[in-house]
Amino acid sequence: MLGKVKQACYFIYGYMIAIKCRTASQERTANRQQQRFQKLINHVADKSHFYSRFKNQTLSKFPIIDKPLFLAHFDEINTVGLDLKQCEEHGLKAESDRDFNAVLKGVSVGLSSGTSNQRGVFLVSPCEQALWAGYIIAKNIPFSFRKKKVALFLRANSNLYESTNGLFMDFRFFDLTKSFDDLIAELEAYNPHILIAPAHVLDIIAKHQSTIKPDKIISVAEVLENSMRDRVEDCFPCKLHEIYQATEGYIASSCSHGNLHINEDILIVEKEWIDKESGRFAPIITDLNRRTLPIIRYRLNDILIEEKASCPCGSHFTRLQKIEGREDDMLWLPHSTNGSLVAIFPDLIRRAMYICQTQVSDYRIAQHGGVISFTYKSDDAAKAEQDITATLTELFTGLNVDKPEINFNVGIKQDLMKKQRRIACYQKPSFVD
Ligand SMILES: [Zn+2]
Repeated sequence: MLGKVKQACYFIYGYMIAIKCRTASQERTANRQQQRFQKLINHVADKSHFYSRFKNQTLSKFPIIDKPLFLAHFDEINTVGLDLKQCEEHGLKAESDRDFNAVLKGVSVGLSSGTSNQRGVFLVSPCEQALWAGYIIAKNIPFSFRKKKVALFLRANSNLYESTNGLFMDFRFFDLTKSFDDLIAELEAYNPHILIAPAHVLDIIAKHQSTIKPDKIISVAEVLENSMRDRVEDCFPCKLHEIYQATEGYIASSCSHGNLHINEDILIVEKEWIDKESGRFAPIITDLNRRTLPIIRYRLNDILIEEKASCPCGSHFTRLQKIEGREDDMLWLPHSTNGSLVAIFPDLIRRAMYICQTQVSDYRIAQHGGVISFTYKSDDAAKAEQDITATLTELFTGLNVDKPEINFNVGIKQDLMKKQRRIACYQKPSFVD
């Protein structure tokens, strides 16, 4: 009983953080971040072996960690004495049994289906879960006394999401391992107020000409391409919103004007510039609420693009123009005159492919050294290959890079259980000096 009351308090606390900080000034936000970081460290330094030597240190003194380092030190970083192997086994069993309610030492274990080879693992206590639920609801679901039906399409459920079921909310989990025709029939019968799904699943729902009439649609877990956004917004009479959440934290969400802002009321985000001129950076995140598995100066290999213009919503939180993808979505080609490798940002490729969309309905690009494999769907392969070649040649010539060898393959097998990744560099070409 006491546990439930505590969780309810955390839920309200999470809800209030999201409401209170909406229009806080930059200075006030920074002060709050510092106060909460200090509280976090006081707790974590006592319980995490990895961070015990950093007590009373400022954030800049903490090491920057990435996924391999984080997983290598997982047992020393978490504050509840769990080891990585048992957490992975627990998470895999939950996925194979499709039963996501079991806990380990009182905490929920989740696995991320990340696009990299290394699986992510997250741990959350019931109170962290309640705080997260309060926060995500306040951020994304307009308050109403009418019970809202929320349809959630995910590869794996977690009691993290089901914990949000309650008086004003009815969450329904749509399991992507089931047949899509059955899921569409179930979705139409449910007719949700809010639809939450990965971008390419929303795209498929739109292509099915679904008759549901949601008030709000939210894209999660994948890069939202402009062509997908257009199709979804054409099919449903509401603006498409985004939640940018990784295993490591809830990083950004769309405001009432549909613009993405970093959640600086729960995170400190440092920017490691990839290309300052265009505003591209990799985020280094510190989550101010996570104590079971602390996330401190964790470098994500995502590419975000900062938007300098202020937002009419009044929020001073950093605005993002877009989430471009992952760093290993960048292609690399030799400069035509000096041979040094030039990064081709995924957005440039996407924009080029947007031009070919009348011929190419879907595509995947994989770079292996000097060869690019181009797999696509089209009703007219000859015309499609001609268009793609012309478009990419123009792009590469404009960037002053050597044109790579391109291998074309027709036909894409859609796998809903896999995170869609359209552009990927598996091996850079060798640099010729
Ligand atoms: Zn805004």
